[in-house]
Amino acid sequence: MRDADPRRRVPRTDALLADPGLADAVGTLGRERVKAAIVRAQQRARRGEITPEEVRAAALAELPAPAPRAVLNATGVVLHTNLGRAPLSAAAVDALVAAAGHTDVELDLRTGRRARRGREALDALAAAVPDAAGVHVVNNGAAALVLAATALAADREIVVSRGELVEIGDGFRLPDLLQSTGARLREVGTTNRTTRADYAAAIGPRTGFVLKVHPSNFRVSGFTSAVPVRELATLGVPVVADIGSGLLAPDPLLPDEPDAASTLRAGAHLVTASGDKLLGGPQAGLLLGAAELVERLRRHPLARALRVDKLTLAALAATLHGPVTPTRRALHADPAALRARTERLRDRLGADGVKVEVVPSVAVVGGGGAPGVELDSWALSLPERYAEPLRTGEPPVLGRVLHGRLLLDLRCVPADADEAVRAAVLRVGG
Ligand SMILES: *Cc1c(COP(=O)(O)O)cnc(C)c1O
Repeated sequence: MRDADPRRRVPRTDALLADPGLADAVGTLGRERVKAAIVRAQQRARRGEITPEEVRAAALAELPAPAPRAVLNATGVVLHTNLGRAPLSAAAVDALVAAAGHTDVELDLRTGRRARRGREALDALAAAVPDAAGVHVVNNGAAALVLAATALAADREIVVSRGELVEIGDGFRLPDLLQSTGARLREVGTTNRTTRADYAAAIGPRTGFVLKVHPSNFRVSGFTSAVPVRELATLGVPVVADIGSGLLAPDPLLPDEPDAASTLRAGAHLVTASGDKLLGGPQAGLLLGAAELVERLRRHPLARALRVDKLTLAALAATLHGPVTPTRRALHADPAALRARTERLRDRLGADGVKVEVVPSVAVVGGGGAPGVELDSWALSLPERYAEPLRTGEPPVLGRVLHGRLLLDLRCVPADADEAVRAAVLRVGG
């Protein structure tokens, strides 16, 4: 009875390659890789480790899932570091895709000559912050600081308040970063109080610049004092201000968050910031300020190592030109509209037999920005046991577990993804 031998029922390679799931994988991973996975699964079946019927699933299971995976952020944290901070606008995504091939990133198509790299992004940044005579873009906020410290203070001193030597997250400590450039830190004042006189006493011939750091992820309250940029600017040395979040202009919702325009107008000579926090763009480090200083940074040899790629430049230009970013929309979402939206989703889930409640929620800016700012929001409240299957499902839906409940706050979920949230909850079951 040769046909009873299960090995004869192992599916053929060409039949498996035509299977829709594996054919899709050929599109994303290439034929060689998928074929190798199929062959290994067939061998396992021939050795009797799996049944012939399991070959397809075994081959699929061996293939890597796309990474990183897109997730739905229902945590109510607008800039979630573990979820990649700012999501790009549709315009920025389109620009990024268009830039993926050959582009005119460093060529003027009219003249056929070499042109300033990333000029659209730089022009858009300059137009957005007219107070900045010079602008430059590097890989991230940390790189912006490293470039400033290297070009302006290597073998010199950076005068900085003890209250501003911050750890941003994941062990990233500003003092260590600055010292890695060869600059020496000249710490002044105390954790809670620093005065203009403290700075003035520390300034001398070795001073590279005075650094003002926005303590973006914590607040000190009580008996405190700090020196505003406006006063630091009278000390007679360059003032570099790390504002962190990338706000270009004031936002009334975030009164304590410094913005680039106001900081420059207050007298800062150079401002550094991130592109993927409140600006809502791609990961990038922004440098804005006096033309001569920015030019020195741009011409420094290290600048080449911190250069941004064409994808970042395209996404940044589109973010600056484009419509309201998802970050801004989430930040400024109207609580009443969020409540109505959440109640609609509750009603539809109720009709499907899933009992959920709508409860008030508190959303936050996150991403090391605007500590203490609470955004009134609303959430679907589900039993905690939903958390794990929703997180590991497709698409993964991430909420916040609080007092034994899973809260799904729609503030940062794109409006057209409510159906995906509903389907995900339904898959977990009532
Ligand atoms: C976030 C932040 C940084 C680091 O910026 P990255 O873009 O994450 O490198 C530096 N300084 C401050 C004040 C920040 O908030």
